[in-house]
Amino acid sequence: MKAKVKDQETYKHKGLRKKLVDEIRKKGITDKNVLAAIEKIQRHLFLDSSFLEFAYQDKPFPIGSDQTISQPYTVAFQTQLLKVARGQKILEIGTGSGYQACVLLEMGAKVFTVERIKNLYDRTKSFLPSIGYNPKFFYGDGYKGLPTYAPFDSIIVTAGAPYVPDDLVKQLKVGGILVIPVGDGEIQIMTTITKISETQNEKKEWGTFRFVPLVENKKH
Ligand code: SAH
Repeated sequence: MKAKVKDQETYKHKGLRKKLVDEIRKKGITDKNVLAAIEKIQRHLFLDSSFLEFAYQDKPFPIGSDQTISQPYTVAFQTQLLKVARGQKILEIGTGSGYQACVLLEMGAKVFTVERIKNLYDRTKSFLPSIGYNPKFFYGDGYKGLPTYAPFDSIIVTAGAPYVPDDLVKQLKVGGILVIPVGDGEIQIMTTITKISETQNEKKEWGTFRFVPLVENKKH
């Protein structure tokens, strides 16, 4: 009996995910692999069980420590800009709930993810493997990237940065893309920096978004 109830729940969640994917497709996301990843990942597992009904709405949600799991559309938009291919090495700054890392893993990337809040780092580092996702977790300051593991095919920053950190641009391969929301107020401009050669970058802007801030030089 219990198993049956659980199956029905899963069926219901699948339906809700399909609706969510339709919604973000209508909002302009075209990358099929991004949509497939969102359709597959059980976002309700990332929210406290008392908020299950919110899991498949296209909205951000609090995850504790004053941080949020990004809105699915925003996750999809940033991921689409990364132009992910299987086997790529991708650095994520701002692990948070781990949801974005799972989207990248579903798309076949090797993911390195950095978080500066110790209890979020600890929580996500034990939770993600429990649902079958295994990025490499790092506790530290994302402004510095991960020089030891560089260069990366692409880098995604999931918090609002007052400026583009030089260290992150340095850690891109030639041809690599950095996706970063830039702005020190409440609103940021989604920006891509593509490394055209060792000395040349191309910058493009993609409209406004709202993120929690990328915080510098403090540890919890
Ligand atoms: N990608 C996350 C979004 C989390 S919100 C998800 O899918 O849930 C942004 C995260 O960036 C927060 O967890 C915040 O603590 C983290 N963050 C902020 N400044 C940072 C920094 N300098 N280095 C690493 N992580 C940082």
